[in-house]
Amino acid sequence: MNLHNAEFVRSVTAVADCPKDGLPQIAFAGKSNVGKSSVINRIVNRKNFARVGAQPGKTIHVNYFFIDGKLYFVDLPGYGYAKREQKEKKRWAELMDGYFNSGRDIALVVQLIDMRHAPSQDDMTMLNFLKEMNIPFVIVLTKSDKLNKTETEKRRAELDKELADYADIRRIEFSAVTGSGVEEIRAAAEAAAQ
Ligand code: GDP
Repeated sequence: MNLHNAEFVRSVTAVADCPKDGLPQIAFAGKSNVGKSSVINRIVNRKNFARVGAQPGKTIHVNYFFIDGKLYFVDLPGYGYAKREQKEKKRWAELMDGYFNSGRDIALVVQLIDMRHAPSQDDMTMLNFLKEMNIPFVIVLTKSDKLNKTETEKRRAELDKELADYADIRRIEFSAVTGSGVEEIRAAAEAAAQ
C-alpha cells in the first residue's frame, strides 16, 4: 500500500456524513495539541497535509483522508481542551459516541498520548472505552524527542504502571521531529487494513 497516496476527502460534523462504503477506517484520537496532525503528516510524508497547530479546541470536526484508494484515515476531534464550553463538550461526546457505535469498519484506533506526562483522565477514559468496545488499538507516545535518555527510561517505567490495565496493547514511541516510530505506525496501519 502506498500511504503517501493520500487525499483529503471531507470534514464532517455529523456521523451521518462519515463515509460508510465498507472500506476500513483507521482513526486517530488524542487530546488537543498531543501531536495528532503531526503524526498523520509524517505517515503520509507531507508537511501540511493535516493542519499542525490549528487553534486548539476550535474544531469539533471529523476529518477524512482517503489513502491509496483502500482505506480512510479518520482524524477525530481532540479532547481535553479546558476552555471548551459544556455545550461543545457534549457535542464532542455525542459525535465520538455516534462514530464508534455507527457500524463503520474501524480497523484500528491510533490512540495518542504525550509521552512526557502521565495519561490524563480523558486519555484513561478513551483507553477504557476502546477496551470495553473491543476496538483494536495501539498507543502512540508522542513528542518522544523532548525527553533525554534518563527521562525516557523513567517515563517508560512509569508508563508500565500507568498503563498496567493495557499491558497487552502495543506502545509505539514517536517523534514528529526525528520521524522515529513512523515505520511502526505505518506497519500497524497496513496490517490492520488487510
Ligand atoms: P494536534 O492538535 O494534536 O493536531 O497537534 P499538532 O500536530 O498540531 O502539534 C501540536 C504542537 O506540538 C505543534 O506545535 C507541533 O509542532 C508540536 N509537536 C507535535 N509533535 C511533536 C513531536 O513529536 N516533537 C516535538 N518536539 N513537537 C511536536
